[in-house]
Amino acid sequence: MGQLDDKTAVVTGASTGIGAAIARAFAAEGASVVLASRNAERLEQVAAEIGAAGGSARVVPTDVTDEDQVVALFDHIRGALGRLDILVNNAGINAPQATDEMSLATWQRVVDTNLTGPFLCGREAMKLMKPQGGGRIINIGSVSAKVPRPNSAPYTATKFGLEGLTRSMALDGRAHGIAVSVLHPGNVFTAIWEGREEVAAREGVIQPDDLARVVVAMAALPPDVNLLEGIILPVTMPFLGRG
Ligand code: NDP
Repeated sequence: MGQLDDKTAVVTGASTGIGAAIARAFAAEGASVVLASRNAERLEQVAAEIGAAGGSARVVPTDVTDEDQVVALFDHIRGALGRLDILVNNAGINAPQATDEMSLATWQRVVDTNLTGPFLCGREAMKLMKPQGGGRIINIGSVSAKVPRPNSAPYTATKFGLEGLTRSMALDGRAHGIAVSVLHPGNVFTAIWEGREEVAAREGVIQPDDLARVVVAMAALPPDVNLLEGIILPVTMPFLGRG
């Protein structure tokens, strides 16, 4: 018996890093998982790994910044699976740069991916979840929504925004049994740490699989229970305070 037997889930940004770990963990607990991001080849690799481990995964290449592609993703889910129990809004990018050097195009790219993407996916998920009587949306935020790093204007702004989007969507979902939550990770060892290994070693990093265990626990809660907000970080991370 898996904790997510008979559940259907879609994970955005499932081709690498945290999203791939969440997708693998969901499938290992019995969920049918839809893998969504832009790189079809990498998604197929993750789907093959899940299949080899006895799980169920399908690939729907999707750019979360493109409204038509997001609508098509959820149309596919409606047609192929009939219902959607869990959406994980994980796709996200960073573009570290000083504010006074940043182009509007860079700002816009991060906002489109980290904030508009979760809005579009959340909107389409809610259209499926409302008539079925409920569902769960888990947004992957960042501790940057609490304490930012330098040179992170659009990243920090979107992660603060994701917290607002979470609360607003949770309120809109409340009467319909739709639980919406946000999990803020600290340092998690993925490709975004390439070239910053020295910082990772100094501050500490957790593994994507450890974060995925928490997301499974959130997803497996009884339908009337929501873990609204959480922070997961390395014990050693210099985040908590001074001294
Ligand atoms: P990765 O760079 O490893 O993965 C990012 C994922 O997002 C990829 O699968 C990528 O897939 C996908 N993606 C990017 N743009 C789009 C798009 N337009 N449409 C669809 N998918 C997209 O990063 P992480 O796994 O480290 O990060 C995942 C999430 O966790 C992000 O939201 C990040 O902000 C957050 N986070 C990460 C931390 C860390 O230390 N790693 C710390 C705090 C938060 P593809 O290229 O196939 O589209």
